[in-house]
Amino acid sequence: MEELILNQVVKKFGDNVVVKNISLSIKKGELVSLLGPSGCGKSTTLRLISGFLEPDGGKITMNDSEVTHTPPNKRDTALVFQNYALFPHMTVAENVAYGLKMRKVPKSEIKSRVSEVLKMVHLDHFEDRYPGQLSGGQQQRVALARAIIVNPRVLLLDEPLSNLDAKLRDEMRNEILSLQKRLDLTCIFVTHDQEEALVLSDKIVVMDEGNIRQIGTPSEIFDSPKSYFTAHFVGVRN
Ligand code: ADP
Ligand code: MG
Repeated sequence: MEELILNQVVKKFGDNVVVKNISLSIKKGELVSLLGPSGCGKSTTLRLISGFLEPDGGKITMNDSEVTHTPPNKRDTALVFQNYALFPHMTVAENVAYGLKMRKVPKSEIKSRVSEVLKMVHLDHFEDRYPGQLSGGQQQRVALARAIIVNPRVLLLDEPLSNLDAKLRDEMRNEILSLQKRLDLTCIFVTHDQEEALVLSDKIVVMDEGNIRQIGTPSEIFDSPKSYFTAHFVGVRN
């Protein structure tokens, strides 16, 4: 079943068209990467899907209902930002609880859900710490816990590993993957890292200058690139 469909979606900032008639569809439980160079419109696409931005054209459908102009808090999406965007004055537990508090979930239920998701990301003993007292990897785990606590239909991850060192990146990559499989989450993973997209994805969407150049499985993209751009981009390590 299609969980998310983008149909001819357009986004402009002034005269600058940064997302140009993008169409794609994602099935339930799929992990799809948006892969492309910096500035090609990946983050903008995630913001359109999460509702933080409204498109200038086209249509977005989630689970058979149109959400093109639905505000973010009325969509079943959760977005993890590249810089984590944790609230510095709140403890780990308060950060993670945030989405449930907004939804007026009872306190006792919040407490047990917070413990549950912190266990999932291996941070069970960190409830009372502040973000400033955590490493980059731990902060990323908190951001992940904060996103999954609301049981989103679609989890959106904007370059979640780019601020981590290589060893931690591998570890977090596997953790995200196992969590995604375990919760059967539909997931869109933004990256400019070819290898990351290759090892993580069910499907890769190659983007360039606001366009989709190719959509395919990792082997289709890497073994049969359909354009010079794709061949060049996936062939060159940065
Ligand atoms: P990526 O995430 O692939 O690096 P972005 O989606 O962040 O790319 O940006 C795509 C283009 O849109 C860039 O040229 C960027 O400068 C521009 N852009 C992004 N956000 C805004 C904004 N709020 N106002 C004006 N231009 C923006
Ligand atoms: Mg970006």
